[in-house]
Amino acid sequence: MKTVIYPGSFDPITLGHLDLIKRVSLIFDRVIVCVMVNVSKHSLFTLEERMEQIKLVTRQFPNVEVDYSEELTAVYARRVGATVVVRGLRALSDYERECQIALVNKQIYPELETIFLAASEKYMYLSSSAVKELAAFGADLTDFAPAEIIPEIEAKYKDGRKK
Ligand code: ADP
Repeated sequence: MKTVIYPGSFDPITLGHLDLIKRVSLIFDRVIVCVMVNVSKHSLFTLEERMEQIKLVTRQFPNVEVDYSEELTAVYARRVGATVVVRGLRALSDYERECQIALVNKQIYPELETIFLAASEKYMYLSSSAVKELAAFGADLTDFAPAEIIPEIEAKYKDGRKK
């Protein structure tokens, strides 16, 4: 059984992330979406909130699981016995950063391969940061975030202030 890990911050999960999960779930037997705890990154949603959101919006995919890790991706992958990591590529700037991460991961865990899926055209410029910025301005999030979690995102920006 071939398992792939999809690590990220998912703060919050966007339609771009979900599109990637859907596509990768058709290629691999088992997909672990792993929320990486990044101490240097201030997040809008707690780890628990992010995991719940991902579980909710991926519930229709039977081979998708949600986990979290406070380790480096390579250390996590070795611990759970996975040898493939998937990341999404949007702009050229993603490419440089992602190659760097992939090389470091391979240095730590040489059996680990990183594969990249090109972002779908529709979501090429979509990021969690963009969703948060739009939400802060009270914009309609329908085209950017999964419908089930839009009220939660909007609630964080009620009265124009982050809760
Ligand atoms: P990180 O902080 O690790 O970059 P993100 O949650 O921002 O975490 O993104 C996780 C992964 O999903 C990254 O590989 C990123 O390039 C990819 N990704 C983000 N947005 C999109 C999108 N709209 N389409 C495809 N891949 C995306």
